[in-house]
Formats: sequence, C-alpha cells, structure tokens
Amino acid sequence: MDITIVGGGMVGMAQAALLAVRHPQLQVALLEAGELPEVSAATYDPRVVALTQASQELLDEVGAWPSIAGRACPYTEMRVWDAEGTGSVRFNSRDVQLPNLGHIVENSVVISALRERIEALPNVEVITGFRLESWWRDCGLWHLQARSDRVNVIEGLEENGAILRTRLLVGADGVRSKVRELLRIRTRDTLYQQTALVCVARCEASHQHTAWQRFLKSGPLAFLPLAGLGDDNHCAVVWSADEALARELMMLDDSAFALNLEKAFESRLGCVESVSERFSFPLRARHAESYYGPGAVLIGDAAHNIHPLAGQGANLGLQDVRALSEEIGRALNRGLEPADPSALSRYQRRRRGDNAATLKAMSTFKSLFGAGDLHWRWLRNTGLSMVDASPLLKKRIILRAMAV
Ligand SMILES: Cc1cc2nc3c(=O)[nH]c(=O)nc-3n(C[C@H](O)[C@H](O)[C@H](O)COP(=O)(O)OP(=O)(O)OC[C@H]3O[C@@H](n4cnc5c(N)ncnc54)[C@H](O)[C@@H]3O)c2cc1C
Repeated sequence: MDITIVGGGMVGMAQAALLAVRHPQLQVALLEAGELPEVSAATYDPRVVALTQASQELLDEVGAWPSIAGRACPYTEMRVWDAEGTGSVRFNSRDVQLPNLGHIVENSVVISALRERIEALPNVEVITGFRLESWWRDCGLWHLQARSDRVNVIEGLEENGAILRTRLLVGADGVRSKVRELLRIRTRDTLYQQTALVCVARCEASHQHTAWQRFLKSGPLAFLPLAGLGDDNHCAVVWSADEALARELMMLDDSAFALNLEKAFESRLGCVESVSERFSFPLRARHAESYYGPGAVLIGDAAHNIHPLAGQGANLGLQDVRALSEEIGRALNRGLEPADPSALSRYQRRRRGDNAATLKAMSTFKSLFGAGDLHWRWLRNTGLSMVDASPLLKKRIILRAMAV
C-alpha cells in the first residue's frame, strides 16, 4: 500500500476518499476496528455534527454530498442565550447574505455516504473488523499488525491476524489513538469534568431551522434541527453537564428526563414529547504535541479533541484532510515520497496553530460561561448583547466560524 489510514470515522473515511479522488495513482487502505454504521430509515442517529460550508464543499468534491443532502438539515439561524441573565444573540444567514449557516447531519449518514463513494473508487480498500495493535518499520515501510475477533479476512495471513505494508501511515483513530501512542507523541490534556449527553427529542413545535443553545451554569444545552424523516419537530440534543448532574440525568426514566430537558430549555419549542436512547461522552480538550513522526501523521480527533460547544471538532478534522491531501499532492509533484518529512511538517505547520487557537477559544468560552460570580455574569451578558447589537461583529463571527 502507498497509504494506510487507521480509523473509519468521518475524518478517516473523508481522507481515504479525497486521496483516492485527487491522486488516482495511489493505492489507499483504510483499517477500521469496528463495523461501519448503517443509516436507519425510521429513526435519527443522536450523534450529529454541524457541518460548515467548507466541510460541505469537501464532501461535495469527493461526491458524497448528494447522498447526504436528503438527511441534512440546513439551519438559517442560531440563537444563543444565557440562563443567568438577559444576554442573548441571534445569528442569521441573512447577516452574511447566504442561504444558510451550515447543516446538521447525523454522523452515520456522513460515514455511509463516504463508504458508498469509496466502494466505487478502484484505488481504495476498506478493511473492517481489524484493530491495529502493533507495528515495526523496515527500509522505509511500515508493517502493521492488526487483529480481528472474527475469521481471517485478509488473504494469506495467520488466523485472525493481518500484516499490511505501507509507505505512509495516517492515524485517524480518534481521541484514544493507538497510532499516536505507538509514535510516542505526548498530548496536552484539560479535563473539563463534564459529560456530553446526547439524544434525539421530538418537540411540540417546529425547530424553525434554528440551532438553539442555552448556557446553563452547569454547561451548554443545544437543540439542533434534524431533517429527512418527514417533519420539523425532531432535534438532536447535546447537553454538556457537570459529571454528577450528567450521571443523574442518565439514570432518569424517559418521561422524567424529557421533563427535565424541557425545563432546562425553557420550553422554547413547547413540550418535549418523547426522547430517544441517551448516550454519554466524557469531555476533555486534548492536543497532540506533534502531528507527525517518521512516515506517520495524525488527523482529526487523534490530533485534537475539543469541547463540542461550538460544534467544530469534525470541521477541523475535515480541514486536516484537505491540508494533508494538498501536501501529499505537492510532494508527489516534486517526485518525493508521500511520507517525505517536508510534506508532513508543512501539513503540521498549516494545521496545528489553527487547531490550537480553536481549542484555546473553546476553553476560554467554557470557563466564561461556567463562571457564576456577578462580575463574570455581567461581562458575558453584556458581551452577548453587544455582539447582538453589532451587525459588523456578527458578520465577522459568522464568516470566521463558517470558514473552518
Ligand atoms: C457530543 C458531541 C457533539 C459533537 N458535535 C459536533 C459538531 O456539531 N460539529 C463538529 O464538527 N464536531 C462535533 N463533535 C466532534 C466530532 O464528533 C468529532 O470531532 C469527530 O467525529 C471525530 O472524527 P474522527 O474520525 O477523527 O474520530 P472518531 O469518530 O473517533 O473515529 C475513530 C475511528 O477509529 C477507529 N479505531 C480506533 N482505534 C483503532 C485501532 N487501533 N485500529 C483500527 N481502528 C481504530 C474507531 O473504531 C473509530 O471508528 C461532537 C462531539 C461530541 C462528543
């Protein structure tokens, strides 16, 4: 193989598709420990992302967007308000003369659309059910050892074991990245002592194609509009809460949870009529000190993991995908190996500073909205109202967020 990507989440799949489309001369493999998710025709997947226009363009370039569009909900407005004061801000796509501010899409819809595209590309192979465990390097080639609990599916290898040889290894294996661990790359971590609880809620009123976010003292609560299954009343809920509260909320039965949710959201969309199964994710900020090692590189959550309050994790990961493809293309045009250190260091230079700035902004935002004393409450409420009253500032914030 020329390039092997470890991890078949949204970022790894997008990387495989973009490399294969832009560089048809390369042979690409993608190794995924689990199975790729299926899209349900009857229910929504509670794990969603708010995709920016830049991410949409990338998914369009690889041919995945047409399959995503039918289940993507464009949102034209974003409303943010503080539970402890009167500060609030509305961002509308009219402020920037665009049809929408982005799309809310289920993770499984994006991954399935990418899989569909990849299956039609002759130079990518997806191997599911194999977990990367170890490796060694010899004469510039990585030898990757992966294992499966199932039968051996890679020809000519020992039972349940597989060895892949590759020139460049791309770690897209998420926040607990094995590739990062094997490269001995350290991370800077901030534990937020918060958990994000996600589910789908059916509300009495239409979501109005608006992304809603209320900042509670215990953490932000978002209602994100969903589309594709026939009505405008379903929202994906992302409730980031201090760990003790999140544990209590997870233990409630559905009707008690729906009542708590409705109260925390000030019944902005009427009654919460029903809720789906809930999932929880511990929240942290984690940033790899380096994005590459000899012949290997990190992208997506393997390189950086941020608080979901501004919905930027996957968008940043897709920008990594674009930058890495461009740097590999540049190396190939100059007759260099795709794993040439100059290509990997240029990729790191392009992405690490940008990602660090977003991580820092999210941590500051989180601290500002978590602070309970009068001084900070006054500051953030005044700040929200000032932004709301300034069309120029609003425009700048929207355009900055949409460029990610
Ligand atoms: C509650 C919540 C809400 C969010 N909302 C948004 C949002 O609105 N907008 C946004 O942009 N981002 C959002 N994010 C962040 C976004 O979901 C992530 O940044 C994104 O999904 C990361 O994708 P990834 O492909 O890098 O990693 P992952 O999705 O974690 O995928 C990693 C893959 O690697 C596989 N893997 C792991 N180890 C191995 C191994 N050893 N061998 C083989 N395979 C392996 C795993 O099985 C997995 O499939 C949110 C996150 C959370 C928790």
